[in-house]
Amino acid sequence: MPRAVLTAPAPAAAAGGVGSGGGGGGGGGEMAVRESGSQLWMALKVQEYPTLKVPYETLNKRFRAAQKHVDREASHAVAAVAELERALGGCSSVGSVVSLLDGVVDKLTALKRKAAESVQAEEESAGLCKRRVAHLKEHAGEHWAAVSLWKRQRMERMMVDHLLRCGYYMTAIHLARQSGIEDLVNIEMFVTAKDVEESLEKKETATCLVWCHDNKSRLRKMKSCLEFSLRIQEFIELIRHNRRLEAVRHARKHFSTAEGSQLEEVKQVMGMLAFPVDTHLSPYKELLDPSRWKILIQQFRYDNYRLHQLSNDSVFTVTLQCGLSAIKTPQCYKEDGSARNAECPVCCRSLNKLATPLPMAHCANSRLVCRVSGQVMNENNPPMMLPNGYIYSYNSLVSIREGDKVACPRTKEVFNFSQIEKVFIM
Ligand SMILES: [Zn+2]
Repeated sequence: MPRAVLTAPAPAAAAGGVGSGGGGGGGGGEMAVRESGSQLWMALKVQEYPTLKVPYETLNKRFRAAQKHVDREASHAVAAVAELERALGGCSSVGSVVSLLDGVVDKLTALKRKAAESVQAEEESAGLCKRRVAHLKEHAGEHWAAVSLWKRQRMERMMVDHLLRCGYYMTAIHLARQSGIEDLVNIEMFVTAKDVEESLEKKETATCLVWCHDNKSRLRKMKSCLEFSLRIQEFIELIRHNRRLEAVRHARKHFSTAEGSQLEEVKQVMGMLAFPVDTHLSPYKELLDPSRWKILIQQFRYDNYRLHQLSNDSVFTVTLQCGLSAIKTPQCYKEDGSARNAECPVCCRSLNKLATPLPMAHCANSRLVCRVSGQVMNENNPPMMLPNGYIYSYNSLVSIREGDKVACPRTKEVFNFSQIEKVFIM
């Protein structure tokens, strides 16, 4: 399968945008709101690319289609006017001039109608882009409640996108409707894709060919060979049904312009004309394998993502992987499970399995975190050691101190506060 591999956003680059993933101790969650400009740009590029790119591409497509339609109608109108002028120059009867005038009026009416339709379609797409931009702006809102709602909706948008990619269309549509985010997710694009994929599953090419035609110029620009592959498959199906003469006609019609690797492929399938359908010879046996339809579905899916400049992985997958990788440590994978932390998502059983192939978090400097409060221990909150060897942060020990005594949260042994020593780490 010599299919192009899509460029997925580099997972490492996305880490900046996963701020709200942990939500662990302290005020860390709110820090994410005050992201720097470059972090914001990165998050926007990685996480919100499909949100903005898909409606923009639709607008682009509609604009081009409108231009073509209006140009065509305008040329019809100009031709009708020229014909009328010619008639007026000669000596035509009143009747023929009237009918020519009617023709001009018809053409102008058609032009007006087409223009109005096109403008409406473009306005719809532009409105969608605008609504999505406005929604993304809400992320920097003043009110805490609004921002937290925005974050929940972001999660739901990711879920809808992921469900659509997995083929759970009804679940995705229900979720989008229930959360009121239908305008913010790309359901339409995926439903169109679903129709095409279903027809390919039924071994039909018509729907997919219509899709190719609709996106002709874009597909040509990205050098897609989907249409060629469909034509090859049609040829194979004609051979399979022993309609060899039709197969030859089909080849004349569609393969005459083939060159390069396509020409090689054409040569190969043309060889099928000389062999029976139940041949065991390679490559004809493989060409007749019905599993080729599955490859076509795959090819369509890639081209559809590529057309909308989407990656092969959902934003949800990428974000989850970044989040898990950012907090994954060797502690999470200790054999006996003794080092597992109830607060750590990677230590939780199902996520632990998902994170297995991911790289560990790269920490240039170690951070000591207090077991009691979850706060970082540093010069303002130094690590303190009890006589039994356990270490807690100074602030925590002060908070659990009772008079001059303090009990170790783990062993429950009681010590004098004066016995506690400050720890220095070199
Ligand atoms: Zn862990």
